[in-house]
Amino acid sequence: MMTADASAGWPPAPDTPQLVAPGVLHLLAPNASSWTYEGTNSYVLFGGDAAVIVDPGFEDAAHHEALRSAAQADGRRVVGVLLTHDHPDHSDGARTVAASLGVPIIAMSPRFADEFLTDGQVLRIGELEAHVIHTPGHSDDSVCLWLPQASTLLTGDTLLGARSSGVMGTLSELLDSLEKLRAFVGEREVLALPGHGPAFRNVVESAMRVIDVRMQRINEVRGFIADGTTSLEGLTALLYPKHAGSRAMFAVSTVVSTVNYLLEQPDALSSDAREKLTAELERYDRMIAERMKAHKESVDAEAERPQSGSDSAKASDEDSDERKEERV
Ligand SMILES: [Zn+2]
Repeated sequence: MMTADASAGWPPAPDTPQLVAPGVLHLLAPNASSWTYEGTNSYVLFGGDAAVIVDPGFEDAAHHEALRSAAQADGRRVVGVLLTHDHPDHSDGARTVAASLGVPIIAMSPRFADEFLTDGQVLRIGELEAHVIHTPGHSDDSVCLWLPQASTLLTGDTLLGARSSGVMGTLSELLDSLEKLRAFVGEREVLALPGHGPAFRNVVESAMRVIDVRMQRINEVRGFIADGTTSLEGLTALLYPKHAGSRAMFAVSTVVSTVNYLLEQPDALSSDAREKLTAELERYDRMIAERMKAHKESVDAEAERPQSGSDSAKASDEDSDERKEERV
């Protein structure tokens, strides 16, 4: 098993449970998009007669049913729904699944957690142990789960093997989290199960590659600023010239995290650039706050409307957080 190609047979058919490690079933959610790759990876962790559903994904009745029946097979009892992080492509369906089973949501996100996860906590799912590793950066509430009995690490969207995920949290924290994972894995033979894409084994190299790429982007942004570009739009256009339309928000959020990183460094920017970029970030925060408010109002209005019957996949660009482009 240790020598098998971890990515063989990828991608599987959606909603089809596959035993990918001892005590771990994988089910691909049918929400493929340019942001979610082939879809969100949902998992069922089980030991003995207990099971936990990890990242149920978006609102999709068939996917939820597939997860429930995989989790409850062999007389198992589902004891919780766990989130690796609160991004819509992982968490939107959590409330529905948890309510249908009468179980709590276990998460670090204050928006979802019925039971809060803490760094270093050891969960017991029947006989299966899952150790919680807080890895902020992709989002503030991101966690990885270490299953020592299976030598398996669920990485959420913190680390996606050869692929890239965005920085919606704090870049300096992401760099620290990747360092933490790299040190944790060290010489161990580990199977990594990510939030998107196939399983992988080269955790240390993957983490180092992401750190390298992020450091390169930090240096590029610093250079663009030194050359006189001090608007977020201008920096985004220089760093991601091919990102237009729906993916622009993703690119901007990564630029914002990079600018924030540079503002944290005492000598990285001139005082003039520092002042202009601080104003830019304030403007950006106001714009995001307005968008969130508008989004919430439209969701509330939707909830008040009578059911139309078709509530199918809405994999809009804002529902998800990854992309396929080479440049990251
Ligand atoms: Zn995701």
